[in-house]
Amino acid sequence: MAAITLRDIEKRYDDTLVLRDCNLDIADREFVVLVGPSGSGKTTLLRIIAGLERTSGGEILFDGARVNDVDVGDRDIAMVFQNYGLYPHMSVYDNMAFGLRRRKLAPADIDDRVRRTARMLAIESLLARRPRQLSGGQRQRVALGRAIVRDPAVFLLDEPLSNLDAHLRVQMRAEILKVHRAVTATAVYVTHDQVEALTMGDRIVVMNAGRIHQVGTPAELYDAPVDRFVASFIGTPAMGFIDCERRANGDRAELATSSARITLGEVQAQALSCANAGNVTVGIRPECLSVASERDAAAADVAVRGTVQVVEMLGAEHYVHVATEGGSLTARVPRHQRLRVDETVTFVASSRDVHLFDRETGRALR
Ligand code: ADP
Repeated sequence: MAAITLRDIEKRYDDTLVLRDCNLDIADREFVVLVGPSGSGKTTLLRIIAGLERTSGGEILFDGARVNDVDVGDRDIAMVFQNYGLYPHMSVYDNMAFGLRRRKLAPADIDDRVRRTARMLAIESLLARRPRQLSGGQRQRVALGRAIVRDPAVFLLDEPLSNLDAHLRVQMRAEILKVHRAVTATAVYVTHDQVEALTMGDRIVVMNAGRIHQVGTPAELYDAPVDRFVASFIGTPAMGFIDCERRANGDRAELATSSARITLGEVQAQALSCANAGNVTVGIRPECLSVASERDAAAADVAVRGTVQVVEMLGAEHYVHVATEGGSLTARVPRHQRLRVDETVTFVASSRDVHLFDRETGRALR
């Protein structure tokens, strides 16, 4: 059992503030992913939860009890790293048994735990091998196994799949989730890969420059990003943005550039007037745009004309990158719709699919 609470966590190295105002509640048995670009502070936060790093301010609680001064060895956690951290001179069996022997468990109990875990991870046939006799995927399974046998209250995983090829990463993602369902531990998982975050996390914590920008389920982050950073970081291909001017069109609120017209729905128009934001950036996800004729565009809520810059072929569909006045957009287009570079094309979307951001602060307008 372990619920984890972070309150106002701050971390400095000399004069550099690398984490600030980090507040987070992780429920017992939850699978939480910390995601953000390199240098955003994910590993530092994970190491603070582990007790490998001291905070410069704030509190860490496990099940409501302050653990700031509890050593890493006494926090009932197990860590899995990108570089596996296996002992090269020991067999797989001994690598897995090592921590249990140190805790002086009975040999029969150790044997039972190691074999049961090896079975769960399909590495029984590898128990006698040394780490150098294993593939990357097998090594990562052993590293996971070594964490699982300890039956900890908390798993902390730092980019565990980054060294694996793309195919194996997808396979191991599913296996880690399966293992998490089978054990009773809370898991905190660090990755820079937003696809990994979306596919694995019960909830995702999006970090940038030492700050937590948003905490939410994958759907919440995707559908309602709180700011432009989260909007552009979550989702592939990324959301496109256009800087627009406000315009009145009778009693309807409209945003526009010389080549885009966005008629807002009632709720959005209200958000815009409440926020009192001067300049507005509009965000549209690639799957919300479709190619249209000029006639269809005249009747649509949202119509944008632009010039095709790049067409990426992905098998069933194309990603089309388009430059337009005020920004650029990416559209997912069915492969039968052939578009050429330098062609002028008109896209339409529904006003429901439009995200509004304050251009100065980047905050979403709701
Ligand atoms: P991430 O895991 O998101 O890539 P890190 O937590 O590793 O980010 O690093 C966050 C920031 O803290 C980076 O700017 C990094 O340079 C800095 N940092 C990390 N460890 C140290 C250290 N021991 N001394 C000084 N700066 C550090």
